[in-house]
Amino acid sequence: MTAKYPQPGELEAIETASRDEISALQLERLKWSLRHAYDKVPFHKKAFDEKGVHPDDLKSLADIAKFPFMTKTALRDNYPFGLFAVPREQVVRLHASSGTTGKSIVVGYTAHDIDNWANLVARSIRAAGGRKGDMLHNAYGYGMFTGGLGAHYGAERLGCTVVPMSGGQTEKQVAQILDFQPQIIMVTPSYSLVIAEEFERLGVKPEDISLKVGIFGAEPWGEGMRAEIERKLGIDAIDIYGLTEVMGPGVACECIESKDGPVIWEDHFYPEIVDPETGEVVADGADGELVFTSLTKQAFPVIRYRTRDLTRLLPPTSRAFRRMGKITGRSDDMLIVRGVNVFPSQIEEQILRDRRLSGNYQVVLTREGHMDIVEVRCEVQREVSGYLSQDLTGAIAKELQHHIKTNVGISTHVTVMHFEGIPRTLTGKARRVVDERPKQI
Ligand code: ADP
Repeated sequence: MTAKYPQPGELEAIETASRDEISALQLERLKWSLRHAYDKVPFHKKAFDEKGVHPDDLKSLADIAKFPFMTKTALRDNYPFGLFAVPREQVVRLHASSGTTGKSIVVGYTAHDIDNWANLVARSIRAAGGRKGDMLHNAYGYGMFTGGLGAHYGAERLGCTVVPMSGGQTEKQVAQILDFQPQIIMVTPSYSLVIAEEFERLGVKPEDISLKVGIFGAEPWGEGMRAEIERKLGIDAIDIYGLTEVMGPGVACECIESKDGPVIWEDHFYPEIVDPETGEVVADGADGELVFTSLTKQAFPVIRYRTRDLTRLLPPTSRAFRRMGKITGRSDDMLIVRGVNVFPSQIEEQILRDRRLSGNYQVVLTREGHMDIVEVRCEVQREVSGYLSQDLTGAIAKELQHHIKTNVGISTHVTVMHFEGIPRTLTGKARRVVDERPKQI
């Protein structure tokens, strides 16, 4: 039943509304959200007061720039429930961040928040081509991570048959996909490649896999990775974005008809892009750090939350809302190698130019004296592994080294491994960077 284009009447009215209608709704909701945060959360009241602003100072959307930012530190400092805006008894669910960067943080949801979240994930799955009656294999981890339950509730809301598989147990995942014949899969992009490899191992060709669409998020992945996943699983690969602090998956999602960056569900989240250094708001189209203010959240409002994710805002295409470019990286993912700023995604892009290499890789950083040494570990595809010689390894490494040097600007040692030489992440997010450099004191 998965569809490439929405039929008339399938979209919610706001998805095709005019910019004026969207702005009017945002302004009304923004006023409510600022007031709610100010009145109910001492942290926000203090931050507003210190900056000399009051919720009544918001007369237009642009006035949001007068309000203070919120960073992950606020969540850590107020651990566990200090930022909740409703009595704990009204919180029907807790989630925690997977802790990719530092100590875990806790967020809460009222029944109404969960309801909105389910609607937004349902909207996201529909944007990805999913429809009522489809079967959806959910391989996002269940538990404190928002991925599993977030996807689950949204898929049920849309009217899908959900297979709550969670992460890991790759052989069982694949056996179940073969038995149940789902049309949709939701999973991290890195784990989707592990699943694809298992199909390959069993000799199942992409065209014989029932899946039509994959909805991938929770970690950065580039266009090269998209092509690789689409080819190996014979599907359309769609990008879904979200983060625990702001809600979970479904803050934004790509549309299958355009595949041109996740559409931000602007009726629930007000996006800004700021210069990560100065905090100044930059114009649409310019690169910077993504910042969100929640417009409808009751239990855990966020005001100008600095996501650390680097991207840009793009004009609307398939929906009335603006889109975001692919996340190039997180500001705290950025490696500074001999003074050059490098994101793992840039290295990934170069690796995936070579069809002999798989999308699995690691960047290992060490230091010799004062010199940063970067080793890029990558591995060949299964079919190349059979005839991999030293000469071939050397040739692939030399070529990749050259591409990274020319396009990313750093010198690297490249190690080309046999297929499955790189450890697989079976649940959660792939560990792309291993930083073994001594900490600077
Ligand atoms: P943690 O901060 O511990 O990783 P989350 O599970 O909340 O916890 O992860 C949210 C982060 O995952 C986002 O801030 C972003 O960096 C990354 N992320 C989520 N979806 C995507 C996506 N589609 N593309 C790139 N990065 C993503």
